[in-house]
Amino acid sequence: MQDSIFAPFLWQQDIWQQLIDWHISGRLPHALILSGGSGMGKHHLSKALAAYLLCRKPGKIACGSCSSCQLLSAGTHPDLLEILPESEGKQIKIEQVRALQGYAAKTAQQGGFRVIILRPADAMNQNSANALLKNLEEPGQNVLFILLTHRSSAVLPTIKSRCQQIALPVPDTELALEWLREHLESHAALHAEKLLRMANGNPLTAQMLASDEMHQQRDRLFLNMESLTRGAEPVELAPSFLEGDVNWTLLWMQQWLSDWSNWCLLQHDDQVRFPEMLPLYKHWHKTASLVGAQSLFQSIGQLRTQLASGANPNIQLAMESLLIRWVDKMLV
Ligand SMILES: [Zn+2]
Repeated sequence: MQDSIFAPFLWQQDIWQQLIDWHISGRLPHALILSGGSGMGKHHLSKALAAYLLCRKPGKIACGSCSSCQLLSAGTHPDLLEILPESEGKQIKIEQVRALQGYAAKTAQQGGFRVIILRPADAMNQNSANALLKNLEEPGQNVLFILLTHRSSAVLPTIKSRCQQIALPVPDTELALEWLREHLESHAALHAEKLLRMANGNPLTAQMLASDEMHQQRDRLFLNMESLTRGAEPVELAPSFLEGDVNWTLLWMQQWLSDWSNWCLLQHDDQVRFPEMLPLYKHWHKTASLVGAQSLFQSIGQLRTQLASGANPNIQLAMESLLIRWVDKMLV
């Protein structure tokens, strides 16, 4: 099923209503930061809001058929500008933000709003952020900036202080599952709940996890972790741990650690998030401590932050040292 680009997702109705109420009563701020986990549809929400503000005859959502909505569908609306890094994981350059100055000051070509979506807001360095600040301090008439981030803590405070911050909550589970089941092949829909749990409740991420490619990466990672647990050499295994998207590998390793810690405390086999991991959990229980798992969890978190911030760590070396620590903390 294809989602309308003009309508917010099912689980975004409350926040949508609030934004529309603000707009109708003239209280819509000139800059918003939408924050929340990856895969909850922040970008979709920002596009739907842009469409609504630009639409010639909006109802509860943009009409979808006026000249403005058609331009938006075609991705050629002159009054909507999106700023994002030139490639994923890179930073937004100062030249990209400077180009805004002329844009935000002009009047809208279609005679209404101008909307600027900047994502991710945490991908700006000090210079680009300073350039953006100038725009935020002197916004033109009928200009809305929408900044998106799933790492709100990494957005500079000076930027935050000039924006209305909106933290989107984790989607309601029932609504998320309803959407997910409609968007998955029937065999994958049977596992919707598990996929949603693995995605920390974020439906778009859960949908992506259902792909064959992600399945294969997860299966391979499981086998690699099994080998490590059985005593394989960490440095030799490191390259296999780096196959596929390393961000996911690291996230799953963290999820296993927290799942294992919960299982250690409760010892209820039917409450684990990843039942296929139980044999390994039982093995780790004999050799590992909660404190060790906690410290590994933090190390992995630091590595994920480094990768997300566009820093370029030597990932081969980082994985080798992580697996050596894993053996040290979990297996001896
Ligand atoms: Zn319209």
